[in-house]
Amino acid sequence: MATIIDYKKCTNCKVCYERCPEGLFELDGDGNVYVARPDECWLCGACQMDCHSGALRVTYDLNSKPVFVKLK
Ligand code: SF4
Ligand code: SF4
Repeated sequence: MATIIDYKKCTNCKVCYERCPEGLFELDGDGNVYVARPDECWLCGACQMDCHSGALRVTYDLNSKPVFVKLK
């Protein structure tokens, strides 16, 4: 399972940061959103559904632990 932010599409609107029920998104030193605690994700899918630009994708693999990948 992986949650992927495609930074070519991300507008840094921070909707995912505001909507994640677990508060797993944080802002780096430049104010850019990233997933800070991927192991606590419970796969609700809210971040992917609410991302207006299609930059966020949650994939599911029940045989592996969560991995969050930044694409630049
Ligand atoms: S909701 Fe989508 S566009 Fe907005 S900050 Fe998150 S990943 Fe980027
Ligand atoms: S799938 Fe849900 S819990 Fe996981 S990062 Fe997205 S909004 Fe947060």
